[in-house]
Amino acid sequence: MSAVKSKRPIVIGLEVHLQLNTSTKLFCSCSTDYIGKTPNTNVCPVCLAIPGTLPIINDRAVALGSRMGLGLHCVIQNYSNFHRKNYFYPDLPKAYQITQYELPIATGGYIDIEIDGVPKRVKIDHLHLEEDAGKLVHPTADGRLTGAAYSLVDYNRGGVPLSEIVSEPDMSSPAEAREYVVRLRQLARYLDVSDGEMESGSLRVDANISLSNADGSLGTRVEIKNMNSLKSIERALEYEISRQNKSLDTGNRIVQETRLWDDAEGVTRSMRNKETASDYRYYPEMDLAPIVITDDEIEKFKSGMPELPWEKRERFARDFGLSKEEVAILTDQKELAKYYEDVVSAGAPPARAANWVRMEVQRVLHEIGCTITNFKVSPSALAELVKKIENKDLSSTVAKEVLDTLAREGISLEDAIKRSGASSSRLTGDALNEVVSKVASANPDVVEVIKSGQDKKGGKLKFLQGLVMKETRGQADAGEAMAALSKKLGL
Ligand code: ADP
Ligand code: ZN
Ligand code: MG
Repeated sequence: MSAVKSKRPIVIGLEVHLQLNTSTKLFCSCSTDYIGKTPNTNVCPVCLAIPGTLPIINDRAVALGSRMGLGLHCVIQNYSNFHRKNYFYPDLPKAYQITQYELPIATGGYIDIEIDGVPKRVKIDHLHLEEDAGKLVHPTADGRLTGAAYSLVDYNRGGVPLSEIVSEPDMSSPAEAREYVVRLRQLARYLDVSDGEMESGSLRVDANISLSNADGSLGTRVEIKNMNSLKSIERALEYEISRQNKSLDTGNRIVQETRLWDDAEGVTRSMRNKETASDYRYYPEMDLAPIVITDDEIEKFKSGMPELPWEKRERFARDFGLSKEEVAILTDQKELAKYYEDVVSAGAPPARAANWVRMEVQRVLHEIGCTITNFKVSPSALAELVKKIENKDLSSTVAKEVLDTLAREGISLEDAIKRSGASSSRLTGDALNEVVSKVASANPDVVEVIKSGQDKKGGKLKFLQGLVMKETRGQADAGEAMAALSKKLGL
């Protein structure tokens, strides 16, 4: 992680928009599956704001928002409501957005992050629900998206449910901001609240950043938008730290404003002065009843919570005796964690299974461009394979080959082992001695050097051992091969 230099203390607070995993929009029954659809076909009178229509709250969005709130250790409110946030921009057909303002659904939580092994708690101010806006498209005559003389609007996304998670200004470096987003995304995925994909816009980050004054008071903040990867969040913040420091060094003041990150140029550009709440003329949304969540319902949400990332990490370290690094990789995605657990349940020793899932399974998945959920190698097949390695019935070289075959062709373990040319049992005793003799007689010069005591460092002997392993297709145990060789050469 790059260490950023700043003369002045850095203060960062993030606003993260997460698209909630519902099948329909927040206030109508249009689908949330809008990507790739013909513009303005995924709409209805409600999300197009035809006069006389009324919004109806999507209960699943309320449940998912509550779930995420609980994951963030927030208090779920028994009573919350919606406001109209007015702004005049064509991506909003109503000219206002329905959002939670005074009374959000979840308040006062935190999430723990870790930077270079040092834990840190980032406090959450609140989580609120709101509807997404449509999308503006700025075409040109030749179809490129710059320099348009007119704009087009696509309302397909308008009304899709979002939860906005507002942190306190608790982060003090771009690396912390990145880690915060990573943890938040992991939590959302564990909870099935959102797919958390930044590329498709399911997770969007607005970053607020200021440099503190000499007396320790907070400086003027700037809001940065338009970062669409973890890397660009870090880069935008780094750029802004240096820009603000330079500006303050030359005696200028920081203007409170919204700036856009330009990923290609690597700079932020002023977009507009920061609006204040009064610009939005918030007022209560009278067409919607308040959201009422009883204590019983909150208890139900709580008891329906799955194991959370930090709980899983603790359990894996405790039950499987794995290192922090191994645990971090295995629990990064809950699907991989489940796969690993299934391999262990099927009888594989935890340590070796961890190694195989972490290294070989990941390698094969990467090579064949597949995810763990549609991986052809069942946990029980991998467990059998790992057991064979553990019992020295298969060398790891052959086992890797077998795994490749299993993953690509989805055949049985037996067949994959046969295909590798190895027998499923270890080569020992006479069979091993036979190979040793064959290797020795094929390399008389080397044998001579060893026998005459010139192989001081044992390199030649190792060379012969390698040949034996190769000849047996890795079916011999390396130690046993060495012992058989030594005996053969009278060492
Ligand atoms: P607004 O009313 O403009 O939405 P908020 O007070 O709700 O402002 O804060 C929005 C975000 O800005 C929060 O994530 C908060 O942590 C962050 N923030 C507030 N003050 C600062 C500051 N001085 N420096 C950096 N971030 C800040
Ligand atoms: Zn609709
Ligand atoms: Mg705010």
